[in-house]
Amino acid sequence: MISEGLHRFPGGLKLPTEKGLSNGHESLITPLPDEIILPLKQHVGHPAEPVISIGDNVYKGQVIARANGYVSLPVHASTSGKIRDIGLYAVPDALGLKAPCIKIEPDGLDSWCDIQGVGDFASMDPLTLQHVIRDAGISGMGGAAFPAHVKLKEGTQTEVNVLIINAVECEPFITCDDRLIREKPGYIVAGTRMIRHAVQARRCIIAIEEDMPEARDALLPLLDDDIELITVPTIYPQGGEKQLIRVLTGLDVPSNGLPIDIGIIMHNVATAAATYRAVHRGEPLISRYVTVTGHVPSPRNLQVLLGTPVRHCANQCGYQERSGDSIILGGAMMGTLVRNMHMPVIKSTHCILVKRVLNRAPEMPCIRCGRCSDVCPARLLPQQLYWYARSQDQDRLRKHHLFECIECGCCSYVCPSNIPLVHYYRVAKNKINQHEKSLFDAMQARQRYLTRKERLAREAELQSEKRPDTEATKTETQDKKAYIREAVKRGRTRRRKNHGHKGDVSDE
Ligand code: SF4
Ligand code: SF4
Repeated sequence: MISEGLHRFPGGLKLPTEKGLSNGHESLITPLPDEIILPLKQHVGHPAEPVISIGDNVYKGQVIARANGYVSLPVHASTSGKIRDIGLYAVPDALGLKAPCIKIEPDGLDSWCDIQGVGDFASMDPLTLQHVIRDAGISGMGGAAFPAHVKLKEGTQTEVNVLIINAVECEPFITCDDRLIREKPGYIVAGTRMIRHAVQARRCIIAIEEDMPEARDALLPLLDDDIELITVPTIYPQGGEKQLIRVLTGLDVPSNGLPIDIGIIMHNVATAAATYRAVHRGEPLISRYVTVTGHVPSPRNLQVLLGTPVRHCANQCGYQERSGDSIILGGAMMGTLVRNMHMPVIKSTHCILVKRVLNRAPEMPCIRCGRCSDVCPARLLPQQLYWYARSQDQDRLRKHHLFECIECGCCSYVCPSNIPLVHYYRVAKNKINQHEKSLFDAMQARQRYLTRKERLAREAELQSEKRPDTEATKTETQDKKAYIREAVKRGRTRRRKNHGHKGDVSDE
């Protein structure tokens, strides 16, 4: 039953659900693959730095790459085995790019390194608790992959009125959070309490969708007055951070702002479960639930070790790669179309969706029907953005808040002219980002040039300040030489007088 007192976000869509394909089966623990490929960057921020060498034996849970800076996370071995390579491998990326990864050959023993949880988390200092979460390599697991400790730190610097644990899985095919809650409700509730303690939130909500009744029933008996369970209607994209905040609190996150600006912090439900494992058991983030669905013989959810190849996961559901199929990492609405199944599952991989390629209806001219604006949850003007993206008018794109677009795909979904609007926005965002980066690089180069010029000018000034000293030293030296010459002359004159010599050669 939908909770009372909720608000609405603008736009959105009621999409046909495909969740029944995968959420009826218990999750399967995926067998060990032949190789584990762990990218050094599975999160927003700087890539981690390897601390192992090729040929080393590692244990499950061992740190194999350390965090490189504040917005970074360590990488842990997801099973025991031998390090076979540190090099470039395919990663989840629409362009099929490669990135630095560590390759492990599993030894089949899956032996843990020494791990230990902390005792009573409630008596811990919140900052220490945040460090435990950081050292466990936990990032947001709902798709954005932002390091969890950074959000928690924001929470200790500003008062947190509401902590929201997001269990709203609004993409029509994805059910990994649903299965996680049904199978591990205790982890979610305990992890939620730990996060709440880490940010000292006044109020705590777990938000769930109305089409997840089994998950709701699993959570309810474990809750006390400290956590509210709120059921929201199934409207896409209700799980978006800004949309869910609006629905639960009636508040809007400011444009270009963050939820903490209005005293709110949100974490995904899988992040709460990972926090429980890290704090209670000392387990780093090395596995996750993944939905494998669409045109596969046995769609279901898998418990997957990070670094497991996507192909190995699909094979567990009876799927063998077929040319012409579309492989999407993520959901049907917001997922990324990838070229093959070579890449590994990473911290943010929540769904592997296989779709048969259908002939796309041809793109037609915009008829200015306005349907795209009606469904936009970010209150944008998608049609205008489309024109500006086509004409590469970066100023107008910025003025029309292109970067507020959450790429939910609602506009493309309803467009009668079959215009792939989101594609245009993604390309435009990339171009603007590249342009800004080149401006930033040019600015930094100019700054370096000016700094050098200033340094050289300073050095030249110092030299000229020293010059009077040098002159004085020169004069002093000349005086000394003249004195010595005079003394020698006097000595010779004395000697001539004493010995009666004549015609001696003068020094001058
Ligand atoms: S929905 Fe499509 S055709 Fe209609 S205004 Fe938007 S872009 Fe144009
Ligand atoms: S993709 Fe962007 S522009 Fe289109 S509806 Fe979603 S938020 Fe609005």
